[in-house]
This record gives sequence, structure tokens and C-alpha cells, in this order.
Amino acid sequence: MATDLSAGIRVLPELLINQIAAGEVVERPASALKELLENSLDAGATRVDVMLEQGGIKALQVGDDGGGIAKDELVLALARHATSKIGSLDDLERVGSLGFRGEALASIASVARLTLTSRRAEAQHAWRIEALGGELSAVEPAALSEGTVVRAEDLFFNTPARRKFLKTEGTEYSHAQDAFLRIALGVPDVAMTLTHNGRRAFNLAATAAESRIAQILGDEFRTAAIPVHGEGGAFRVSGVIAAPTYSRTGRDEQYVYVNGRFVRDKLVSHAIRSAYEDVLHHQRQPAYALFLEIDPALVDVNVHPAKSEVRFRDSRAVHQFVFHALNKALARPVAAGQPAAAALAPEGQLQRAGATGGGLSPASTFTPFHQASLGIEQPRDFYAVMTKTAPTVPFAAQSSAVGVLDAPALPKVNGDMPPLGFALAQLHGVYVLAQNANGLVLIDMHAAHERIMYERLKTALDLSRLSSQPLLTPTALAVAERDTELVAQNTEFFAALGFDLAVLSPREIAVRAVPASLPQLDVPNMLRALLDDLREYGASRALTEQRNEILGTMACHAAVRANRMLTIPEMNALLRDMEATERSGQCNHGRPTWFQVTMDELDKMFMRGR
Ligand code: ADP
Ligand code: MG
Repeated sequence: MATDLSAGIRVLPELLINQIAAGEVVERPASALKELLENSLDAGATRVDVMLEQGGIKALQVGDDGGGIAKDELVLALARHATSKIGSLDDLERVGSLGFRGEALASIASVARLTLTSRRAEAQHAWRIEALGGELSAVEPAALSEGTVVRAEDLFFNTPARRKFLKTEGTEYSHAQDAFLRIALGVPDVAMTLTHNGRRAFNLAATAAESRIAQILGDEFRTAAIPVHGEGGAFRVSGVIAAPTYSRTGRDEQYVYVNGRFVRDKLVSHAIRSAYEDVLHHQRQPAYALFLEIDPALVDVNVHPAKSEVRFRDSRAVHQFVFHALNKALARPVAAGQPAAAALAPEGQLQRAGATGGGLSPASTFTPFHQASLGIEQPRDFYAVMTKTAPTVPFAAQSSAVGVLDAPALPKVNGDMPPLGFALAQLHGVYVLAQNANGLVLIDMHAAHERIMYERLKTALDLSRLSSQPLLTPTALAVAERDTELVAQNTEFFAALGFDLAVLSPREIAVRAVPASLPQLDVPNMLRALLDDLREYGASRALTEQRNEILGTMACHAAVRANRMLTIPEMNALLRDMEATERSGQCNHGRPTWFQVTMDELDKMFMRGR
């Protein structure tokens, strides 16, 4: 069908203008719901009740106990570009309300049968106005004890093309429910209910932020939650992020709010993702609910009609701020990895968890390696290095005497108990069992040691190249021919990592020095793995973009292997190192390194009343 251009330019009728605007603001019931909820919150509601029928397509109703609309403003409320929230460009630039464009009610009224009932506190009774296809009814008295009720029926009844884009009732409901929960998460002090087809789906009492998060994201998230608090310059961030051990395949549990408004922002998600980079498998998604507060003048919320995007004036500063706040929270050695720790527990408990080693900067946890007595030829001393390098950790003294078997196996449980407690035994050469103040601690010794090695290698390489220890007698290593070539071309790469290598023959290299301070050096396998990495990443990226992967390879081969018998002092040294090491709650691949089983949990297991 060709467009008839002979009609010339004309001004569109008001209804059509509103319907065009509705295309951006009211895409489906969920977006209409979002607009109505925001209006209720802007009106100062402390309670909001949502009722949907058939996914919100048949009917969508939002009632609140907010300030209400005066009788003579009901018509205006439905007019396009009519708002009580801003009056000047200045207001727009520092807008604090959720709405400000004055087009939601007009848009919804143009594509649905809308009824607006409202009562101001000082009014004798409520008033009602109806809109149908752009025609307004007379304002009539109505019954309503307080606040405002907006009801929209038969969405898109007069725009069949739009209606065709709606999905099934179930899908539309699920979008609407998401919209409801996104808003509910941001306003814990507002009581909210959601009813669908007469059935109550959510009944959220007004509560504290932590409990609202638990109400919506569930107990599993709550037990994995790490609190985040950050403040700096014009920014503030608070909320919770899930420990990396609680990760998701999708982005469904990622909530970011800027000044109370739920937003999808690539910059912020990138900053969050970067903070998790080192502790989360790249195919997994982190879960979080974060509230960013920022001077309204420094953020533009008028980017998109649906207002779900923002533009920061100084995006770099925002990125850095968010990254650092999360990085710090994730690095907290014990709190971050404590899967069973009630991170949303009372304040005092949190502080104790945080005080065990949180806030340590990488510089202060870094302890220079001892090169002198490292016995590459005597790997049974593999843990001696650790115990000697952690002199500031309480109780390290007890465990430093490697080989002394009469170390206290069952220390007294008293106020000086370190967070991870003291080792009791080793299980099948894989797990270390320890006792701490809360009960039993189970540690995957390889995973934990691997993280410790990895963090040390990173810090050491940050400061300079890795130090190197010459071998008394260089050893020859048989390799494939293409590998000798790689070695010859990358001596600088290996030198940076502490290796001194030379080509002996087309299929043999000499190892003259190895990285110092890596206790259990499995040289042949570590070198073969590094050669594989080098081939895969390419020499130019190996020590830059892929640097952490390279160090991860080294850490894996340096870490204590399963079936290695550890002495009690060695196990205690491992525990102390975990407490002093950032991100020690997860191995380099994001798997947990330890679990707490509390006395309560054990008692439950044995049905033992206390
Ligand atoms: P905006 O929210 O951008 O101002 P809307 O079209 O959503 O535009 O609403 C228009 C006006 O109607 C608002 O500015 C507000 O004054 C009034 N209003 C809408 N919903 C409510 C409500 N639930 N309670 C009180 N006033 C409301
Ligand atoms: Mg609005």
C-alpha cells in the first residue's frame, strides 16, 4: 500500500500523538505497571496494592495511600506534558522524582480504558474521571478512603497492531511480576502486594533493606550475600552482592539502582563484572542488588522515555568507584568466602566477620618470599615458607614449627580463636577438617592453596618480575620440537616468571633456574602447561591481557596436590594463610575453598536438642 503523499503536512490529532508516545512508554502491561508504581512512589505512598487480570492485559490496577490528586487537577493529570514534578530546566537537571515527563497517564489513557480515582487528605470524598479512546468523562464523586487508584482495562483495545505484539498471558504476567519486584526491591519501607487473577502472589511488608532483599531474592541468595558499603566524593553505594560460589547462568538476579531508580547500565555492569573477574568463571553471572547514590546534577536520567537508562557525567569515576567498592568487598578473605555465614545477620556479627582481615590492602598482605631455605629438592618442606612468611597472623607461631607433631591438636575454644580455627585432621588426602568457634570447617586444600599461590604470584609480579632461584645442577627437560622454538623466542617471558631456560637440542631444554618461593615446584608439568598457554595466547598477550591466566597456571602447579599428607602445623599454616589472603573463599575458578558446618547444623543432623 503506497502512502498518499498528496495530503501534505498536517498536525496530528491529540489521540494519535499520545498513541505514538505510548509506543515508547507503554510497550506492554509491565511497562504500564512500572509507570503507575513510580507515580505512587512519587506521591509518597507507604502502601501499594497491585491487581492484575490476565497478565495485566485485561486489567491492571494500582492503588496507593499517597498524597492524591485534587479534583480540579484530574483532567490535567491525564493531559500530555502535564506534570507536578518539574517546572523548569533547572528542575529537570536535578530531578529527584521517578517521573517528570508527564506522559505516562496520557499514554496509557490513549491505549486502554482508564479510570483514575483519587482523594486528597483534605477533600470530603474522592473524585473519579474516566478516559476512553481520548474522550474524558465528567469528573464525578467516588468512594475511596485515601490516595489514588488507577485502573487500566483492555490494553491496546483500540490499537490492534500493538495488541498483536503482546505475548501469552503467562509471559506478560511474568514481565509484570519482574517489574513489580524490581521496584519493590528498591523501596523496602513501602508495603506492597501483587494479586493476579484474584490470587495473592506477593505480600511484602514494609521492612529493612536487607529483609526486603531476602524476601525477593530468597534464602539461598541471603546466605551467600556479602554486604557492600562504599562512599567517596559524590558517590555512595550500598547493598549486597552474592559470593562467587552463588553464581547464576543468567542475569536475572542483577539489580542496580541509581538514586532509587532501577536502571540497566552497561558501564555499571561492566564495573561489577570486572570486580568478579578473578573469582567467577567467565560463563557464570554474578547476583547483586546495589544502590548507587549520586548527586542528581551528575547524572542525566532523561535519556530514554522509559527512563531505564542513565548517563553519568563522569562515567570513568563511576566505573572506578563501583569497581573498587566491590573489589574490596569480594577480597575480604573470610567474609567473602564464608558460604554459610549469615552476611545479612545483625550488625555486630558482620563487623566481626569483616574485622578478621577485611580492609587489608594487597600491599599489607604481601609478605616477601624467603628464598634462602627453599628446598626445591626437598618438597616435603613445601609449607615451611608459608608459616615463616605470616608472622603477624595470630597463632602462626604455634604452627611455624614444621615437623613438630605435638602441636596442640585440639586448642581451647576461647576468644582468640582465629576465624577458620585449628586443624583437626586430613580427610582422604583431599580435605582438611578444622574446628572454629562456630563448629566444623571443611577446606579443599588444593583449591585453597591454589588461591593463596595465585594471589602471591599476582602481587609479586605487580611489584617486579618474579624472583628466581638457580638450580645447583641444571636439569634437562624433554619437549616437543615446536616447544624448543617457543622457548628460544620467549626467554624474556620465562625470565619474568622466574625461569632461566636454554635450548640444549631440538627436543631438549635446560632448566637453570626456577621461580623462587613456590613451595612444591612441579617443574616439568608447570613448564609444559606454560608452553601450552604461550602457544594459545600468543607471546604478545601472554604477560598483558592473559597475565592472570598464566599466573593461574603456575598457581595450579605450585599448589599442594591431593593425597599429599600434611602435618597439623602445615594445615594450621594453610588456615592462617587463607585468613590473610584476599579472595581466599574461592579458588581461581570460582569454586568454594571452604565450608562452615555450624554446631547448630550438626545438632540438627543428629536431632540433638540443646
Ligand atoms: P509524571 O509522573 O511524569 O509527572 P504522569 O503522566 O505519570 O507524569 O502523571 C501526571 C501527574 O499526575 C503527576 O505529575 C502527578 O501530579 C499526578 N499523579 C499521577 N499518579 C499519581 C498518584 N498515584 N498519586 C498522586 N498523583 C499522581
Ligand atoms: Mg509518572
